[in-house]
Amino acid sequence: MVRTAQHFDIVVIGGGPGGYAAALYAAGAGLSVAVVEKDKVGGTCLHRGCIPAKEFLETASVFRTVGGAGDFGVQSAAPTIEFSVSQLRKQKVVDQLWKGLQGLMKRRKITVFAGTGRLRAGRKVEIDDGTVLEATSVILASGSVPRTIPGFEVDGQIVLTSDEVLALDRLPGTAVVIGAGAIGCEFASMMSDLGVQVTMLEALPKMLPGCDADVVAVVARSFKKRGIDVRVGVQVSGHKPLDAGGTTVLFGDGEQITVDAVVVSVGRRPLSDGLLDEGTAVEVDERGFVQVDEFCRTGEAGVYAVGDLVATPQLAHVGFAEAIVAVKDILGEAPVPVDYANVPWCIYCHPEVAFVGLTEQAAVDAGFDVVTKKDPFAGNGRAMIVGETEGLVKVVAEKDADGRAGRILGVHMAGPWVTEQLGQAYLAVNWEATPDEVAALIQPHPTLSEVFGETMLALTGRGLHA
Ligand code: NAD
Repeated sequence: MVRTAQHFDIVVIGGGPGGYAAALYAAGAGLSVAVVEKDKVGGTCLHRGCIPAKEFLETASVFRTVGGAGDFGVQSAAPTIEFSVSQLRKQKVVDQLWKGLQGLMKRRKITVFAGTGRLRAGRKVEIDDGTVLEATSVILASGSVPRTIPGFEVDGQIVLTSDEVLALDRLPGTAVVIGAGAIGCEFASMMSDLGVQVTMLEALPKMLPGCDADVVAVVARSFKKRGIDVRVGVQVSGHKPLDAGGTTVLFGDGEQITVDAVVVSVGRRPLSDGLLDEGTAVEVDERGFVQVDEFCRTGEAGVYAVGDLVATPQLAHVGFAEAIVAVKDILGEAPVPVDYANVPWCIYCHPEVAFVGLTEQAAVDAGFDVVTKKDPFAGNGRAMIVGETEGLVKVVAEKDADGRAGRILGVHMAGPWVTEQLGQAYLAVNWEATPDEVAALIQPHPTLSEVFGETMLALTGRGLHA
């Protein structure tokens, strides 16, 4: 049954970070907004991604802290994990944020329709219950789902993706993690810290593709020290479940390993299936990404796409940024497009990884003559105080004609709380600052951020420590 169409200035399909940010920003500008969401507003990030994953990583951090408390003279029994309690705490955090988001959307008078939306010609959105919405503009933000690989059908018991891992009540004793990207490294780190014996199988020659080699080396060293077996340059060919539970994973050149669970973390694919009706000019590439220009406009006038649905970094904060670009474009405010080469990246494994801009290799490949400087956390007072001295800060700068470090092209960090330290590196790269300019700014003492300051100072030609 087709009901009478209701009209909104903007109809958003999908209520994840891309979709809810677009809705909140547009409603804040006085537009009438509807969001069509088939599950819960907050999307993957809030319910099956960033938030629950980082919550469990915090559980791992608490476990490590309690385990090492004796070094501080704080006596306690060796920690054990009751993962069902961790699961409840995680859910409490998620539900609180979910409630907050729903309240925010309600206060901004955003109408949320429950159901699966489909774009029809003429900027109409049809919901699977037959409701049709008309819009002046439509923003597609249906997100992404975990990619799977042939031979590893997800069953929620033995073969898991991030969706299933984040819903576990009990951790497996042993696990293979396929794929050593952001998700693989975060899960491997969390599970290993909580007592799971982890083996990682990565097809490429290096873990954490896209990260600077010096940062990867820090993580690889730490994982090795903690007993995570990282095997790179290996292909998985399938697995054989065992009657007694668990499965044998086949990989490499006739190798195999028997484990309780397999975590598949080989990327995410855009969720564009069934999103578009015939007769729209929205184009989808062969991988399923909706094609957009720098203002997030699709091929159909008045229809935009943002977030994981488009072929840009699959990060919640990139979705937020794209949402704002799309809404500003709708408002005729001439937005500045997102500079995808210089977005902040944060990976919350232990040790954490955070970076912005070009890696040393990418800068060289792009034809830059570069100057680099690395400084370790090992000599930093605060790092010693918190007992986390592994890691470094590396700065990649363009070499000026006089041989000195000019524009900062990239900053790469691995170590304690670097995800919280990236802010000033992000500003430096995006402001196209030079080490001379940044080194003149004061870092508070004693802080972890002094390592960043020291690296910049050293790049001016005279450091305090090296
Ligand atoms: P990813 O693309 O970052 O990493 C996938 C890894 O799997 C790659 O290293 C790839 O080489 C490997 N791989 C692919 N096929 C394989 C195979 N058959 N066998 C072995 N290895 C294989 O993807 P992800 O880690 O699943 O994350 C998905 C997306 O979500 C990414 O875009 C990621 O950046 C984003 N994400 C980011 C964060 C963060 O920044 N903290 C956290 C989670 C997810």
